[in-house]
Amino acid sequence: MKRVIIGGGASGLMSAVISAKNNVETILIEKNARVGKKLSQTGNGKCNLANDNMTLGCFNDSKLVQRLMKLYPTTRVLEILNHELGLHTFSDNFGRVYPISENANSVVDCFRKACEKYGVKTVFDVAISIEKAHNGFVVHCQENDVFCNEVVVASGLLAQAKNQNVLLSDYQTELYPSLVPITVKNPDKSLDGLRQKCLVTLFKDGKKVYQEKGEVLFRQYGLSGVCIFNCSAYVARSKVQKENAKFKIVLDLLPTIDQKEILTIANGRQNSIKDDWFLGILSNKLACHVAKQSKDVFSAFQLAKNLPFEVVDTLGFEFAQATSGGIEEKHLDDNLTLPNGIKVCGEIINVDGLCGGNNLWFAFATGHLVSNN
Ligand SMILES: Cc1cc2nc3c(=O)[nH]c(=O)nc-3n(C[C@H](O)[C@H](O)[C@H](O)COP(=O)(O)OP(=O)(O)OC[C@H]3O[C@@H](n4cnc5c(N)ncnc54)[C@H](O)[C@@H]3O)c2cc1C
Repeated sequence: MKRVIIGGGASGLMSAVISAKNNVETILIEKNARVGKKLSQTGNGKCNLANDNMTLGCFNDSKLVQRLMKLYPTTRVLEILNHELGLHTFSDNFGRVYPISENANSVVDCFRKACEKYGVKTVFDVAISIEKAHNGFVVHCQENDVFCNEVVVASGLLAQAKNQNVLLSDYQTELYPSLVPITVKNPDKSLDGLRQKCLVTLFKDGKKVYQEKGEVLFRQYGLSGVCIFNCSAYVARSKVQKENAKFKIVLDLLPTIDQKEILTIANGRQNSIKDDWFLGILSNKLACHVAKQSKDVFSAFQLAKNLPFEVVDTLGFEFAQATSGGIEEKHLDDNLTLPNGIKVCGEIINVDGLCGGNNLWFAFATGHLVSNN
């Protein structure tokens, strides 16, 4: 039995290690000059590889995730990473799991060593197409063709991937960038670079669909930061569903001050000049931004509690951490095999998670599943 795995990223590396460990002759084809390039950049170089508090709500609507959460709870994935790779991890206060080295390269090193240990043959070449052959497949690459009995496509999708050739377009939805900054209508360019802790609420066609507390980064084109990335996932998923929905983000710039206190503060500042309405409460630029849109101190404080931004779009794939869309689950059997016999794992499947380790968990879990039977 000979298995080819196309793509040496998070899911392909896991798939290759487990495949070779199960005594299958395994060839890993990677188009970059080294494996795990994206993996080494994850989590700001620290690799947030899973999450203790993962829920179904962290993902788009997916029966596969539901099943994987039972088969591969975070504890099991961490056990696999520890047992097969020797990787030790810790969780921060938010349940985000990192390697104890806090270094994504060390995760890649663990995978490389495990590949060596179990005898994975790594070939640096670009897979162009897959052809069905007697008893298996021929993978046509730029340099050489490779015959195998089984092929796993773990090639990821478009998030920060250059020159991606689509190997399985027949089964794929349209693709949109996810976990990415958002462009808004009439952005105030003077706010560029400013950071503010906010309560962020996302509305879809007027209905609240997501809320998170965290830091927002104002940019010339709109908004960025982890909470905004998470909002972008809803925008992208809606586009995949071709919903044509309208999205609005509302920022509470004063999440630690409740309505009663707001009224008291505004009352006390009725006689202040406009420039001093938010003195000691908001940074100067944000204070100006809110005050110039308000006729009195009371409406200014209400606006600071509910500052609306009409979503225009998201930035492109070059800025995205994930892809929304991909191979539809309806085409996959329980072992992640397509009707044409090709197996898939990782980002190429139409599953995307919010920030916090969910996407790497999915890549590791599907990479394991696809090679473990
Ligand atoms: C900057 C950044 C930070 C991120 N941080 C986190 C984080 O902290 N936590 C988290 O959970 N997720 C994070 N993600 C998302 C996570 O990296 C992905 O979900 C995950 O890497 C997907 O794994 P994959 O194996 O499916 O695809 P990839 O990691 O993209 O791997 C695919 C591999 O296939 C290769 N390939 C593609 N086409 C071919 C071909 N035709 N022939 C040969 N090889 C090919 C590519 O070169 C690549 O090495 C981050 C993403 C980015 C961009």
